[in-house]
Parts: sequence; structure tokens; C-alpha cells
Amino acid sequence: MENEEVLFWQSVRYPKVKIIATIGPATNNESSVRELINAGVNIFRLNFSYGTYDEHKQTIELIRKLSRDRPIAIMQDICGPKIRITNLPKPVTVEQNSSFKIYRDEVNGLSISHSEILNSLDVGDLIYVADGRVKLKITSIGDLYIEAKSLTSGVIKNGSGVNIPKGNLNIPAITQKDERDLEFGAKMGVDFVAVSFVESAEDIKKAKSILIKNGSDAWVVAKIERKAAVDNFKEIANESDCVMVARGDLGAEIGLSRVPIIKRRIIAFANEHCKPVIVATQMLTSMINSSTPTRAEVSDIANAVLTGADCVMLSDETAIGKFYKEAVDILRDTIIEAQSIYSYYIDYSADKNEIIAKCAVEVSKKTDTSCIVSATETAYTVKQIAKFKPQKPIIAVTFNEGVKRRLAIVWGVADSIVLKRSDNAEDFIKSLDGTDIPKPFVLTMGSIIGKQGSTNMVRVFY
Ligand code: PGA
Ligand code: MN
Repeated sequence: MENEEVLFWQSVRYPKVKIIATIGPATNNESSVRELINAGVNIFRLNFSYGTYDEHKQTIELIRKLSRDRPIAIMQDICGPKIRITNLPKPVTVEQNSSFKIYRDEVNGLSISHSEILNSLDVGDLIYVADGRVKLKITSIGDLYIEAKSLTSGVIKNGSGVNIPKGNLNIPAITQKDERDLEFGAKMGVDFVAVSFVESAEDIKKAKSILIKNGSDAWVVAKIERKAAVDNFKEIANESDCVMVARGDLGAEIGLSRVPIIKRRIIAFANEHCKPVIVATQMLTSMINSSTPTRAEVSDIANAVLTGADCVMLSDETAIGKFYKEAVDILRDTIIEAQSIYSYYIDYSADKNEIIAKCAVEVSKKTDTSCIVSATETAYTVKQIAKFKPQKPIIAVTFNEGVKRRLAIVWGVADSIVLKRSDNAEDFIKSLDGTDIPKPFVLTMGSIIGKQGSTNMVRVFY
């Protein structure tokens, strides 16, 4: 993608929707990370369901080492109270209509992690195992175990995922392991933390407070994958920096057929409220084993782009897949094709905080300018510019390395440049003049340098 002559974003063929790739056994090495960066990955996701701190530390250092030129960010995904089958020595095939016992205490037999959840279940409630392949309906509640009838047949293994569609289970999203993981992530300076199985805004507040206590200004991503998260979506989104449509667990918890509609609703709300939104899971599942995707998968990517996603994410495709590089190539090329019919210049009504951003986008549309350059202390103005979906590239200029990397998640941000801090507007303009951003460009900045929320100017910079 990189070209010596022109900056990569000067070509019209650069993806405005960002690419997240999960690191795993297939890619946790120098040459694969390099390949993924060259193919266009913006953010690497580290799945804390697996791996030791030593391994994660090595991966983080490797990514940092290889991403000095382009803004590449790291997302720590903490696993939260994922419910799993426990104490099942060997896989069993559950026959349809057979009866099935889940013990409250795993010393007595097959149980589930976070088994206190069983207390909030009633006769008639459903329990899904192994991505919903085995559907159980509770028939009786006992002191030692609950009993359920299987509505389908399928294989259950130790560690199989369990989903309970009832919702509002009131399990705190941040487990003790998550707390330790958050402290580790803060120490390592990760850019984003994705919080799994959130049910309320409180869960997000808790994650944030642990991060802040540990000196981290990472952005928190709320993974929407539980019914309660869908019900409380607005409060959760307002408390979060970003949101993820986590279609894997979401599909099992709320029913597959509802996922596309909920995805659209989440994206629409997130777009309007400047919350970068990620569409995740099974984007290119077939490419775990095949060098070409299905037509339906490619279509799903284009739909995510056209619906307004800021990011698309690969999970097993890049973690354990044989064709991780090809998967990113398909993602990137499909994003670029979809952009040819993209609805740019979305005409939201702008409040007084957003009017400069809207104005900058309007000016970029009406002038022969190369891009929109936005001076930003916290990424706030840049996110607002992205909201109005300019066709021209957005270039962020900041004094802060962390902000530069976090902007990797924002739609349309083609590059972020870190300048040496200047104290006044005149010095700032001088140092901006010294960059290789092609003139003329549209510029937003504040007359007071370094003050959060002070953007009050839009001009064409010749
Ligand atoms: P996971 O989250 O990959 O951590 O389970 C994403 C999802 O459920 O879709
Ligand atoms: Mn999940």
C-alpha cells in the first residue's frame, strides 16, 4: 500500500473504514505482523481469553516495534464472565429430547463457570451451548442441580460456550481476572480495551475507573453481545468511547435473525453520537480454511461499510487462519469498492459544538483542497468531522502519541501526525507548514493551543 512518491491516502483507493485483526498462533510472529500491517491493518486485537502476560507483552512490543511509521493501535479484549461448560471429562453427544443435568457445584458433576447464574433461572428458560447448536429448556430447579430437556441434538465439550438469552443476569462484567488484565493493559499502554458481556453503563464505568487508577487513557469499547446490553444500549454507549457489534455471542443470545437489525440500530446511534463502531465476528469465516471467501461474506463486508461502520474486525481468520493475509486483502479491497457508492456528506443538524466540524466538511466539499487537517488535543473534533462523512481524507495533527494511535479507529482518518508542542497559534502554523501535507487543505484549529474543546476556526490553508 505504501508508495514512496505519494502519501498512501493521496490515492483515492485508501480504505476509510478501518481494519482490526486479531493476533493468534497463526500471526504472532514478526513476519506475519509485518505482512498484516502492509496489507492495511490499523488495529491489532489481543484476546485475553488466551495467553500469558509474558506472551502478550512480547506481542505488544513486537507490534510497537513494527509500527513506527503508520499509526497502528493495540486493542486488549478482556474476556469477562464468559460462561463455559466445566467438569465434563470427555465430549458427549446430547440427543434431542434427552434430559440433561447442570450441577450448581462442579464437584458433583457437569457444571458451568459463574454457576451462581443458575440462581436467576426459572423453569422454561433456555440455555444455549456451543454457539447455540445445543438448545436446552429448563424443566426443573433443584437444590443440587437444574434439569433441562434438549430441544436439539449436538456435541458438548468441556469449555463449550454457554449463552443464556433470558438477559439481565446481573453478573458484573469485570471479573477478578479482568481486573488484573486491565492493570496489565494499563501498564503496557494499550490503546483500547474491549469489555466483553457488558450489561449496564456501570460495567463501563468500572472498567474506566480501573484504567484511570492505573494511569491509562485507553478508550473503552463496549462489546454488545448480551440481551441486557441491547436493552441498555444507549446508556452503555454514552458511557463508552466506542462500541462493538459482537455478532458471535449476540447471535446466540438474542437469535440470529435479529442480529442484522440490531447491528443497524447500533451503528446509526453510534454514528450520530460520534462513537466509533466496530462490526465483528464471522466476517470471513470461510477464509480460515479457504483462500477465497463466499459471496455472502464479501457482501456482508460491503453492507457493514455502507451502513456506517467505522471498523470491521477479523477474529479466527487472522488468529488461527491459514489465509490471514488474503483475508485482510479481501477486506481492504471490498471496503474500497463499497466506497464508490458511499453516502458522503451526511447532513446531520449540527449543534454549537459541532458546527465547526460540519463547516470544515462543507468547505472541503466546495474547494479544491487535498484533505481536512484537524488539530486535536483529545480527538474530539476529529470524531465530529468523521460524523459528517467527508469524501476527502481526514488528517489529524496532535501533540500526543496516544491520541495519534487511538485515531486509528476513527472512520476516514487517513493519517495522524504528531507535532512538537507549540504554545501559540503562530508557532503551530509554522510547524504545520513544515509537514508534507499537500496544500491547499482545509484546517480546523483553536486560537488557544493545547486547550481541550477550543476548536473555533476553520480556514483554507494555502
Ligand atoms: P469474542 O467476542 O470473539 O470475544 O467472543 C466477539 C463476539 O462475540 O462476536
Ligand atoms: Mn463474544
